[in-house]
Amino acid sequence: MNVFDCVVVGGGPAGLSASLTLGRARRKIALFDDGTNRNRVTHAAHGFITRDNIKPQEFRELGLKELENYPSITYFHATITAITKAIGNEGFIIKTTDGQEFISEKIILATGIQEIFPFEEVRNFYGKSLFSCPYCDGWEMRDKPLLVLAEKEDHALHMAKLVYNWSKDLVVLTNGGPLSEEGVTALEKRDIKIVVDPIKKLIGDDGYLQAVEFVSGETIKRAGGFVVPSFYRPNHFVEKLGCEVQEDGTAITDGAGRTTEKNIYIAGEMEKSAPSSLINSAASGQNAAASVNMDLTIDRF
Ligand SMILES: Cc1cc2nc3c(=O)[nH]c(=O)nc-3n(C[C@H](O)[C@H](O)[C@H](O)COP(=O)(O)OP(=O)(O)OC[C@H]3O[C@@H](n4cnc5c(N)ncnc54)[C@H](O)[C@@H]3O)c2cc1C
Repeated sequence: MNVFDCVVVGGGPAGLSASLTLGRARRKIALFDDGTNRNRVTHAAHGFITRDNIKPQEFRELGLKELENYPSITYFHATITAITKAIGNEGFIIKTTDGQEFISEKIILATGIQEIFPFEEVRNFYGKSLFSCPYCDGWEMRDKPLLVLAEKEDHALHMAKLVYNWSKDLVVLTNGGPLSEEGVTALEKRDIKIVVDPIKKLIGDDGYLQAVEFVSGETIKRAGGFVVPSFYRPNHFVEKLGCEVQEDGTAITDGAGRTTEKNIYIAGEMEKSAPSSLINSAASGQNAAASVNMDLTIDRF
């Protein structure tokens, strides 16, 4: 019978770290992951001390290898399609795409987030020469001719100020979005060029940007840059399970991963529906797992 103390949905840094903590606490857990982590497109991840410059795939393999040391952890490469409360509210029934069913007393949701870009073509360059996090990839892009692509003024100004720290050769593109006079003045004061014309196409090879062509016919050369996407949760588990969220999509928690629904915990980028980092997501996974373990301990002691 597939019955677990806790099912962890999502095997990014949050879910891997949660699983490690629970395995070490001798809890019987199942970890599910389907390999749709948003950083899978990038050549290397940076800024996680001891793991700087690691390939996302290698990070995952190292994590899964470490989990093998703990016999109470079972890993499934599978997509979870449904999570429902079991009759009598005694835990949850978890279903996979291939029709398997699992029962668990507690759930940690750690399925991350995904991006919506100003236009889809950005995806062809994302993770190789276009990025969304300067802390992750600013160093590799330092001193290059860069763009900042953001359609909203506050996003454009925020990202331009940040990226200016890594490269002073900057062009801000708003793809048709308006910029106020104050915004223009703030950027021009730093010799940052602004193009508000809508973009016709991105030009480059194998994910490496070379130029941007505008509807106006103008073309500018750029080696890469930073975009401001919007982000969303890739599923509705949070809402369907009745967990309360704030207006901005942030799940309401006690600060240690417990949602407003008993036995449902949340970790990683999914919690705030906002981008974070490997190390912060891993930390959040450990916090949620410690809450699960504490609650199991209190319930059963
Ligand atoms: C291009 C790019 C570059 C980045 N570079 C860096 C960097 O250099 N340094 C850094 O610190 N951060 C970087 N990040 C951010 C980092 O990847 C995230 O902060 C981190 O991975 C979030 O961890 P998470 O566990 O919350 O989510 P994720 O890592 O996204 O993991 C969520 C997991 O849930 C799984 N999943 C989703 N739905 C289901 C389902 N229904 N059933 C089963 N499994 C499911 C997915 O397969 C996925 O593996 C980068 C992100 C991107 C996009």
